[in-house]
Amino acid sequence: MAIKIEISNVANLPSRFGKFQIITFKENEKEHLVVFKGDLKGVVNVRIHSECLTGDAIGSLKCDCRDQLIKSLEFIENNGGMVIYLRQEGRNIGLLNKINAYALQDKGFDTIEANHQLGFKADERTYEIVDFIFEHFGIKKIKLLTNNPQKLAGLKSVEIVERLPIEIKPNEFNVKYLKTKKEQMGHLLSDEI
Ligand SMILES: [Zn+2]
Repeated sequence: MAIKIEISNVANLPSRFGKFQIITFKENEKEHLVVFKGDLKGVVNVRIHSECLTGDAIGSLKCDCRDQLIKSLEFIENNGGMVIYLRQEGRNIGLLNKINAYALQDKGFDTIEANHQLGFKADERTYEIVDFIFEHFGIKKIKLLTNNPQKLAGLKSVEIVERLPIEIKPNEFNVKYLKTKKEQMGHLLSDEI
């Protein structure tokens, strides 16, 4: 399917985490949000966050998404940069499938096994729109806020000059999930996990 991208105007967004500017990139039916602060010149601090409704909005303790999002917003408030909020819920399997995966996790499967049971890969996310966004802003070099060293290995438009880790404290509900990410998906997480 041909990709059609529509871009909104820039608006101000005062938030509890800082005074930001926002812009939307509509990629076919998916409306991605970019939250940014500062002039975005030189090496730009970037967090690429994939939507997690249960974590970001409901405060689910099954994952670390909301903590990572909040820390990223606080970071760009203090240091400048952008959070690219991609609408690929549940590692891009969608909300309905994610909840079905959670139901399997309730029966004892881990996050990867549950996805496989439903016929998906462990991670179905894509990042083509990210190249488009960087090109739109003229960004060539970034510092990437992530615990995942493989993230964005396929990016064409920018050079990642540094990876900034986001330290998240585990809780009793997400420790197994974080352990799977650390041991089976190569994430760099604290020794507490
Ligand atoms: Zn999450």
